[in-house]
Amino acid sequence: MANVSLMACPECDLVHQMSHLPATGTALCARCGAVLRQGSRRSLDTPLALAFTSLVLFGIANAYPLLVLQLHGSWQEATIPGCAKALVTLGWPWLAAILITTVIVAPPIYMCGLSFVLIQAKRHRNGPWTARIFRIVLEFQTWAMSEVFLLGILVAYVKLTDMALVAPGFSIYALAGFIITVSAVASSLDPMTVWDALGDRA
Ligand SMILES: [Zn+2]
Repeated sequence: MANVSLMACPECDLVHQMSHLPATGTALCARCGAVLRQGSRRSLDTPLALAFTSLVLFGIANAYPLLVLQLHGSWQEATIPGCAKALVTLGWPWLAAILITTVIVAPPIYMCGLSFVLIQAKRHRNGPWTARIFRIVLEFQTWAMSEVFLLGILVAYVKLTDMALVAPGFSIYALAGFIITVSAVASSLDPMTVWDALGDRA
């Protein structure tokens, strides 16, 4: 019974006994036909490199202004942390909390956690926290909503051009790059490859 593990179908929860799968093989659910596992495993290097790139872009997006606008003769810069502060000042603390959670806190936690797990997987080390962190990371994926924020900023940019002289800041480009790399991380990441590399807990 070596190298046999149990796996529940993601669609119908039927539990299967999984053993070694050839590189060109595909395991399907016996009940509903859903794909359980592909034989060819994806690389861990690609999502790791993309995760590091996204962290750099995230740092740039938070350090530089999103928009630079001229109001009443003076130039003002709007940054992401500045937007959260402005929402609190305007009396919308709950909106500031959503912005902080989904745009400032969730993305770096997700990327740092994922980078840690991928490094551990590459070293085939499954410490006491690695599997738990990976489960949290997979849950966190849905809480990072930078693309919604970027869309809101673009709408604000278009509307503000009628009232003031507005220029996009460096942060917008970094945020757009960050969103693209996050999507690339999600599409290049194969959770089963990570679980296989982690193996049994050390
Ligand atoms: Zn099924």
